[in-house]
Amino acid sequence: MTCPICGKPVASDYRPFCSRRCADVDLGRWLTESYRIPATGEEDAEDTPPDDPAPKAH
Ligand SMILES: [Zn+2]
Repeated sequence: MTCPICGKPVASDYRPFCSRRCADVDLGRWLTESYRIPATGEEDAEDTPPDDPAPKAH
């Protein structure tokens, strides 16, 4: 088994990666992918009114 990031042999401490650095790289890619997903629902978000503040009690 080899690291999916750089292709080096996997270290048991960091499976399925070879090092902490490659694990971080993979995590960074995953986060970047998740940020792109909301683009499809952009128009629906525009239609949603902002949260109303709590009613003022006099
Ligand atoms: Zn690696």
